[in-house]
Amino acid sequence: MPDLILRGCRLHQQTQPVDIAITDGRIAAVAPGIAETAAREIDCRQQLVTPPFVESHIHLDSVLAAGQPRFNESGTLFEGIQIWGERKQSLTRDDVKARALEALKMMAAQGVLYVRTHVDVTEPRLIALDALLELREEVRDWTTVQIVAFPQDGIYSRPENEGLLEEALRRGADAVGGIPHYELTRDDGVRSLHRIFDLADRYDRLIDVHCDEVDDDQSRFLEVIVAEAIKRGNGERVSASHTTAFGSYNDSYAYKLMGFLRRTNINFIANPLINITLQGRQDTYPKRRGLTRVKELWQNGTNVSLGQDCIYDPWYILGNANMLTVAFMTVHVSQMTGLKEIDAAFDMVTTNGARSLHIPDYGIREGNPANLVVLDVPDAFNAIRFQVTPRLVISRGRVFAETEAARTRMET
Ligand SMILES: [Zn+2]
Repeated sequence: MPDLILRGCRLHQQTQPVDIAITDGRIAAVAPGIAETAAREIDCRQQLVTPPFVESHIHLDSVLAAGQPRFNESGTLFEGIQIWGERKQSLTRDDVKARALEALKMMAAQGVLYVRTHVDVTEPRLIALDALLELREEVRDWTTVQIVAFPQDGIYSRPENEGLLEEALRRGADAVGGIPHYELTRDDGVRSLHRIFDLADRYDRLIDVHCDEVDDDQSRFLEVIVAEAIKRGNGERVSASHTTAFGSYNDSYAYKLMGFLRRTNINFIANPLINITLQGRQDTYPKRRGLTRVKELWQNGTNVSLGQDCIYDPWYILGNANMLTVAFMTVHVSQMTGLKEIDAAFDMVTTNGARSLHIPDYGIREGNPANLVVLDVPDAFNAIRFQVTPRLVISRGRVFAETEAARTRMET
């Protein structure tokens, strides 16, 4: 007998409702009208049931630290890096773990059960890294955390940073990161990317680079990543985060790059909430949107997933942990309001994210871990339109979070 059966589940882009049976934390069956009964049954009322949302890009070491020691008044990436440079002097393991755990719980309540976090490894004690490595294990039975070793201040800007990055991989980071546009010279930026690919090879890790997160149309590190991925044949293990300069490239260059992208399968991770606020700060008018070419990449057949990047931190003081808000912003900034385009935005916070993160057992299929999100809307369109909080979040077969819908009574 199954432990739990969800009745009347509408799956994304499928018309016939199904039941989902769960046994020992795994999905045992997905079929219409399952005859068996279970100890607990939940009526999903023909509403949408989806695999968990995937947060493809966040910084758990800096979440919930806005205003410490001061708020970012210019609203720029670079003032954020400065403020964080001051705040990270006073990091402790408990401080990082407490804030990160609170953010992970906020995310789980919103149905986010797969999280890729960057962690700054240019702080010489590696306190935040050790804290998040510990936390990754402590939360393993309800959420999945993947850690990118991220050299926030650049690999070559200080002599010790290169060694710290490699040490982070030795200690167990899942992926190697970078920030080539913030290296001191163009040459250093290119060299940093070659180093990142070499380290990923040597330690058998994924790659996720903060790439071209500027409005400068001459910031062209993406082409270096694409070239390395083509030559090494490892594109599916590589993610390019932000790539906001792609939004400023001239079309002739941009479409040459689109062609190269069809020769590899690297992943793009866009962060529309933060980039619509951070970018274009030096523009007067017309003011650029500062987002990578999400719609055109999607049309090009390239995998694009989405991140929130920040929750109440030195770069961005908003952030509610809900990936549907991120999809909602994407639909606006990328002008993806066609119905198929809105569905595509939903994929970007679910299946595409799973692809970026290399999650092997993702999705509502027999045998996979029973990680499911029950929403109170019939489809992805309405999920994004209303940015709903899930009614139920099921993690490893157990109901982990339950939210009651707000009710409005009205005199008419
Ligand atoms: Zn980031």
